Amino acid sequence: MEIQQLETFTKKDVRGKPAPVSFVRVRTDTDEEGLGQMSPYNADISAKVFHRQVAPHALGADPMDIDGLVDEIVDAEYKFPWSYLNRALTGLDTALWDLKAKQEGVSVAELIGGKPTTLKPYGSSMSRENTPEAEAERLARLKEERGFEAFKIRVGSTMGDNEDAWEGRTENLIPTVREAVSDETQLFVDANGCYTPEKAIEVGELLDAHDVVHYEEPCPFPKLEWTTEVREALNDTDVQVAGGEQDNDLTQWQRMINMHAVDIVQPDICYVGGLARAMRVADMAEDAGLLVIPHSANHSLVTVFTMHMLTAIDNAGPYFEFSVEDHWAEEMLEPALTVEDGEIEVPDRPGWGFEINPEWLATSTYEANSREAPAM
Ligand SMILES: [Mg+2]
Repeated sequence: MEIQQLETFTKKDVRGKPAPVSFVRVRTDTDEEGLGQMSPYNADISAKVFHRQVAPHALGADPMDIDGLVDEIVDAEYKFPWSYLNRALTGLDTALWDLKAKQEGVSVAELIGGKPTTLKPYGSSMSRENTPEAEAERLARLKEERGFEAFKIRVGSTMGDNEDAWEGRTENLIPTVREAVSDETQLFVDANGCYTPEKAIEVGELLDAHDVVHYEEPCPFPKLEWTTEVREALNDTDVQVAGGEQDNDLTQWQRMINMHAVDIVQPDICYVGGLARAMRVADMAEDAGLLVIPHSANHSLVTVFTMHMLTAIDNAGPYFEFSVEDHWAEEMLEPALTVEDGEIEVPDRPGWGFEINPEWLATSTYEANSREAPAM
């Protein structure tokens, strides 16, 4: 079997919001198909990279050797490492996993050693605009309505150089939300790289005082030494430092794990270059005794990919990321992703177990790379 054609379906915005996604369909010379997706956001740029720097290497290749093909492409495009190459590569990787699982008549979860099951999402807030009172009220309501057992809230400001969204917000937010969701709810925070080590440790002590157990990106992500300093300072507390969502180089991942910069590793399957590479990060973390809670901050297929992966690894954290925002991806997947009684189902249908709404596909931009038909 050989890869015959690679098609993409791309949008720049959805319902007026800049939220582009690009789906990939792989087709083989035996007319089998697989569905995947590149990383969202600027996906029209990723689609260009896909057609120019990913697809040409894949046409004619064996679609069953996913790890081999992914490595070959990263090596061939060594002058263009990381961000956009990996965002595009994810489209190929995830389409091939879907194809391979469908070939065997199983879900991707089963193909990689897991099984369809239910998982517990944590409700992930993306907001820094909500007042502490509004955020607390919203999360308490979501807990009541959908049964979430854990939430993540945003502290500081994104890459914010110690500045809060407004003065005192973080110090007010933590106790206000803790009180609203009560003690039985697990509380996580995300600083999105806001702090220097000194400030991060001060905030970490506040988190510990309110039983917050997960402290994500306390410092700017490239500053691994800073993050390590914070992790060491909080070692005797129940606060676990998490990070890695931006990291997409496997050597850097190994370095981060070797230095124990974080307690919880958070590869984003779409940023890191696909499921094959994310599974390698999970393996490295397992060898070091670290938990994995991937970054899956939107309701495109990244959440689906993440769910399948989590069923197949032994070091998955207790909850996985599920955005609670009004979402641009809501009408894109069939069936829709839904949380009921604090759980979400990993489907047992072949492949990823989801399709794209035909109307969405019909209004997207189509491009394809095809292998020349053999001369008669
Ligand atoms: Mg984050």
